[in-house]
Amino acid sequence: MQLFKEDRLNECLGEYMSAKRDYYEILGIQRNSSASEIKNAFRSLARKYHPDKNQGDAESEIKFKEVQEAYAILSDANEKRKYDTYGHNRPGGSPFGSGGFEGVNISIEDLFGGGFESVFGSIFGSGGRSRRTKRQRGSDLLVRHTVTFQAVMDGSKESIEFEVLKTCKNCNGLGSPEPDGVRECPACDGRGRIQRIEKVGPFTQQVVTDCSSCRGEGRIVHDPCTICKGEGRSNESKKVEFSVPPGVENGTRLRMSGFGESAKSESGDPGHLYIEINIDEHEWFERDGSDLLMAIPLSYTDLVLGTTIEVPHLDGELLKIKVPAGSKPGQTILLKGRGLPSQRSRSGRGSVMVLLKLDLPSKISRGLKKKLLEIRDEISYSDDELRDKISEEARSRRRG
Ligand SMILES: [Zn+2]
Ligand SMILES: [Zn+2]
Repeated sequence: MQLFKEDRLNECLGEYMSAKRDYYEILGIQRNSSASEIKNAFRSLARKYHPDKNQGDAESEIKFKEVQEAYAILSDANEKRKYDTYGHNRPGGSPFGSGGFEGVNISIEDLFGGGFESVFGSIFGSGGRSRRTKRQRGSDLLVRHTVTFQAVMDGSKESIEFEVLKTCKNCNGLGSPEPDGVRECPACDGRGRIQRIEKVGPFTQQVVTDCSSCRGEGRIVHDPCTICKGEGRSNESKKVEFSVPPGVENGTRLRMSGFGESAKSESGDPGHLYIEINIDEHEWFERDGSDLLMAIPLSYTDLVLGTTIEVPHLDGELLKIKVPAGSKPGQTILLKGRGLPSQRSRSGRGSVMVLLKLDLPSKISRGLKKKLLEIRDEISYSDDELRDKISEEARSRRRG
């Protein structure tokens, strides 16, 4: 089992987040779109990517956050003007603070009505008068978990144990067990941020940066907690149980909301836990979606005479493979409905495809050699027959 912090997870998801996309492009609208056009574009995309509709899909979650961020900026007249002027590289850094955009909670019902405006209205405060509270979500965790091949057929109940940074119980996340062990930072009056005026070209800009005395925390710990060393969070061992659905694909990521790291600040939500499902190899099956592929090595006589082979199967019933007389190596036998359950179509199962192979012994006993010599003349071709066979083979090769 491997644990990764958020930066590693983001790296895995890197293809979706490498270059910051244009906010108008994200919402699929023109630069001169009206406020109601912006709102309609956001509403329809947010519905499409809402986590309730895309359980555990990491790509949708990123897209959901992306359209939220675009809407947060473009729906705020002041922020929209700055974005139109500077793009993503505005002076003073991200308008969302050093943590970047953290996402907001909107219910899917609100996206059908219009209950989401107030959530976005409060993101940027009003003209800097209100103290902006940083609602940082805790980091996400990625855990890799291996399941048996049988679990793809039946689904399974799994459990994992992992270490995760949670709010320290000894100090309740304050960093010190003593009430006066933590004090407001005098340099920034507990804001965690310092404001100054800067000139950028012809503009005078109010720039906000993290306070260096308290590293943006807004408080200084004098008497650090012995368990978490003043961090307010400490490693805890957690156990979660979860279900793996039948037909699960290798590499599927299940999301468990709120099971990631606790946020640094008391007000933030915990991050998510992503469980990446890896599937063990089967002894003889290869998988292709809901189909199963296998090969059986057969003797010359089994191919010529035909045979029936039975092997134990994942569905509990024997897999009966009837090899017809006169079969050739490389031919396949399809057993419909005996493959894996299909995750897409809900009903029905894939097929088992059996490849027939000619298995030739590298060593034979003296007794067998004697018998083979006896039948050799019977099964070998005469010179004329052999010439015909060679021509026939060449014809079919050119055709095919
Ligand atoms: Zn502590
Ligand atoms: Zn400070």
